[in-house]
Amino acid sequence: MQKTASPKTYRVKSFGCQMNVYDGERMAEMLAEKGITEAPEGEDADLVVLNTCHIREKAAEKVYSDIGRLTKGKTQKKAPMIAVAGCVAQAEGEEIMARAPAVSMVVGPQAYHRLPGMIDDAVAGKRSTDTDMPADAKFAALPKRRKSAPSAFLTIQEGCDKFCTYCVVPYTRGAEISRPYSALVDEAKKLVEAGAKEITLLGQNVSAWTGEDDRGRKLGMAGLIRELAKDPDLKRIRYTTSHPADMDDELIDTHGEVGKLMPYLHLPVQSGNDRVLKAMNRSHTAESYLHLLERFRAARPDLALSGDFIVGFPGETDAEFEDTLKVVDQVRYAQAYSFKYSPRPGTPAATMENQIEPQVMDERLQRLQAALRRDQQAFNEASIGKTCEVLVERRGKLDGQWLGKSPWLQSVHFTGDADIGDLIEVKLIQAGQNSLAGEIVA
Ligand code: SAM
Ligand code: SF4
Repeated sequence: MQKTASPKTYRVKSFGCQMNVYDGERMAEMLAEKGITEAPEGEDADLVVLNTCHIREKAAEKVYSDIGRLTKGKTQKKAPMIAVAGCVAQAEGEEIMARAPAVSMVVGPQAYHRLPGMIDDAVAGKRSTDTDMPADAKFAALPKRRKSAPSAFLTIQEGCDKFCTYCVVPYTRGAEISRPYSALVDEAKKLVEAGAKEITLLGQNVSAWTGEDDRGRKLGMAGLIRELAKDPDLKRIRYTTSHPADMDDELIDTHGEVGKLMPYLHLPVQSGNDRVLKAMNRSHTAESYLHLLERFRAARPDLALSGDFIVGFPGETDAEFEDTLKVVDQVRYAQAYSFKYSPRPGTPAATMENQIEPQVMDERLQRLQAALRRDQQAFNEASIGKTCEVLVERRGKLDGQWLGKSPWLQSVHFTGDADIGDLIEVKLIQAGQNSLAGEIVA
């Protein structure tokens, strides 16, 4: 590779989950510290970071096509320096380096604090790969938080030891680690000082977080939430994503006792059939999952529920799929994510017999999504007439219009006197499937 000029501008393109969004923000902060500024919308960037996701199909193909578009002048006029980050980098780093000479560096999700040095290498004409997985070294090496949107993400836990048989996360993100309590309290404080009103705690298994407070007492995520809630300038707390196995009594009680913990719970079930759940290596049954939700609802009756579903896991029969629809009918989710099973190289399910025909998966997904849409619409309609606080996140398309989130994570739009970051008392007056209209309460 030839020597090249130091990049002056960057663009980070993040795909996939909120943890990638968080990582993308942290990479952007590091690049800013290095004196590289974000390329204005529509202008070429000298450095493009593709922050990739490997959770479902065609992830790698998408990366190669993005690289092709960048080098052939389709995305921007001049080919940039290219960094591939995220879970595809972790899983297929060496192959990417071999197949795509235009890529200057490949950096895994636990090593991106090394990006600045890798950029120096690229300037000197050297390509580099770093897919090490040191526990927690990354966070300590990242710059302090200086800028925040009203709603901010804070990664508190990473990795996964659960090994669901369909999932790549334990391989791409590594073993479960919890960030230290004091680092999290400090980062949350910095985010609030930088303008955050809401913090969403993130982790692949966020409720598996454990730590020790300043006095050496053991804490779970509920204890962390209670501590963060003491900051008067932090108005809202959320967390995602949880595994049913890590939900303890204290967390359930916290939902009933801490008003700043928003009434929303994303708790993936994946399937409503116990044989399929066992084959997935999930540790819950449909019944234990439903019972858990009942306990959360008893603690916080207005709780909005969300979940994840996979249809067409190897061997799933029609009758087993019907069990998933039964769970949906019982829970009545406010919102949910549903996916067709996608075989991930290296996972046990990828080599299981009885892989399901794509057409059968399509039909099942359509039926499931119709039921989820029905419930989302019903949940939103049931909100009409309620008055709630909306956290304003940005301007809407219309003059004087604002967009924000209700406590139940619904998108709400309204017009009137407000600003980004305000918490405005709004009456919900109209409901669509994906958003609601409101009016300011005088
Ligand atoms: N840790 C969380 C849990 O246990 O539910 C989920 C994290 S995972 C990154 C997000 C979602 O992607 C999963 O809940 C699952 O529904 C979906 N997913 C993971 N692997 C998948 C696969 N191979 N095919 C289809 N969907 C998948
Ligand atoms: Fe993947 Fe979640 Fe299962 Fe971990 S618990 S393996 S992240 S689906």
